[in-house]
Amino acid sequence: MKALPALNELLSGNQRYQTGTSTMSNPVDARSELVRGQSPIACILRCADSRVAPEIVFDQPLGKLFVCGVAGNIPTIEIIESMEYAVGVLGVSLIVVMGHSNCGAVHAALHNEHVDGVFALIALSAVPDMDECVAHNAEQGVSTILNNSLYLASAVQQGTLQLVAGVQDIASGEFELVAQTKLE
Ligand SMILES: [Zn+2]
Repeated sequence: MKALPALNELLSGNQRYQTGTSTMSNPVDARSELVRGQSPIACILRCADSRVAPEIVFDQPLGKLFVCGVAGNIPTIEIIESMEYAVGVLGVSLIVVMGHSNCGAVHAALHNEHVDGVFALIALSAVPDMDECVAHNAEQGVSTILNNSLYLASAVQQGTLQLVAGVQDIASGEFELVAQTKLE
């Protein structure tokens, strides 16, 4: 599936999640199809936070989302290599960097707590505000991916891959886009 229809699927699913009209189900007889393989419509980089679950927030069943996760949704080298697999082997044409409100990792970085390791990689905005920092960190994730993967950057240049960044609001459930490469 191309990037724009894939994004529209996610946003439609997010609408259903927000309004409590999710339709996602994982029936027993769907498993035999999953055994044969996977063709996910998008690769999602999520925070490890327990309140963030792309399959639920985008109302998608098993087999639809290739999900990578780490505290603060930082595109580490292992995450980027997983994304390259999703794009190169599984044919994914959309990568989503998914930040979220009330992110503990961003909060820690903003308040100078636990700034070791992956927490030190969180990109804070110039404005010392949680929502601004969460959005900025997600947006910077797109740049980090493109700057650290020639393969993914060239796929974007060739028009076979698009990247977006967005933020899930824990209270409303809304996933709001904050940045994107050119969508086709
Ligand atoms: Zn978080």
